[in-house]
Amino acid sequence: MIPFYKPYTPNKDKILESISSSIDSGVMTNHGPLVDKLEKSLMDYLGVRNLLLVSNGTIALQLAYKALELKGEAITTPFSFLATSSSLLWEGLCLRFCDIDSETFNLDDQLLNKHICPDSSSIIPVHTFGNPCNIEEIDRFAYDYNLKVIYDAAHAFGSSYFDSSIFNYGDISTVSFHATKIFHTVEGGAIIVKDDSLYNRIKSLRAFGQLDRMFGINAKMTEMQAAVGLAVLDKIDYILNVRTYLYDIYKSQLNNVQFQKINPDGQCNYSYFPVVFKDAETLLKVEHELKNHNLPSKRYFHPSLDQLIHKTQHSNSIDISSRILCLPLYTELETDNIFKICDVINKVNQSDS
Ligand SMILES: *Cc1c(COP(=O)(O)O)cnc(C)c1O
Repeated sequence: MIPFYKPYTPNKDKILESISSSIDSGVMTNHGPLVDKLEKSLMDYLGVRNLLLVSNGTIALQLAYKALELKGEAITTPFSFLATSSSLLWEGLCLRFCDIDSETFNLDDQLLNKHICPDSSSIIPVHTFGNPCNIEEIDRFAYDYNLKVIYDAAHAFGSSYFDSSIFNYGDISTVSFHATKIFHTVEGGAIIVKDDSLYNRIKSLRAFGQLDRMFGINAKMTEMQAAVGLAVLDKIDYILNVRTYLYDIYKSQLNNVQFQKINPDGQCNYSYFPVVFKDAETLLKVEHELKNHNLPSKRYFHPSLDQLIHKTQHSNSIDISSRILCLPLYTELETDNIFKICDVINKVNQSDS
């Protein structure tokens, strides 16, 4: 079977050259020259200020909550990867799930006012599959109720909103550089901070530091990870272009399925290819038929986090998670395999209707 996901493998010589320089110099971690170079190159490429590299995308979220000293309830989306919620629970916050919009799969900003209470401290939306949230509406609501906004932008490297990097929004944006994400450093992540003094605080917190009576943790990225990141960054435009090309082929081939509605005020990086079927039964049939043809797919996100954590019975998030299937999407995916996948799906869908 072809893999469901294959991390982008950059030029080996380029990586080895950087790693060899790091070994020769004896500086392998503790914010060496490669981490420094990657931080600067990323800020340059993305057009953002105050970007800090860290060891993974989950610790990026935790540092954000810690540095903002969040307490009480956090309003977040149930349609996400476990880390969005588990990181909040780990930092002692209470989860308040706000349902999603069934078309964009993002937190439905029109429902935020149902979830506000005296204990609310923050909103943690996710740019689901790289699709920009309604940032203007969310930020306005947060301003009115004096809430902090941390965007879990784990999926969203390369996405934009009103022609500016998606990472420029919220009090803080965090991103994951895990090997399955578009831009990667094997394991890794980054925090992008609006406020300069908050940026300095997080900079200190990621390396144990004591600042403003707060003690930190070890969230440092190593030189080895930065070496991979620098080599991937060299190819990032190519990676983003190929994905858009493959995304469009999928979209032109599939009938009778629901696609994610992309925010017209922004640009999506096409980090995943999700399709929604008319019911869970059809999804299971499609998944089974693909497997029979040796073709991979993945139920993602499944289960919905409100179902998993609060045993909720009904929500748009639970409904979508029961009907959504992600199809393979990576630079080395051959178009022939896309045609095969679409063929199988269309056949199941036709015999069904
Ligand atoms: C991948 C991911 C994370 C966690 O990132 P890691 O680098 O794997 O720790 C957090 N949130 C979302 C939505 C993700 O997809």
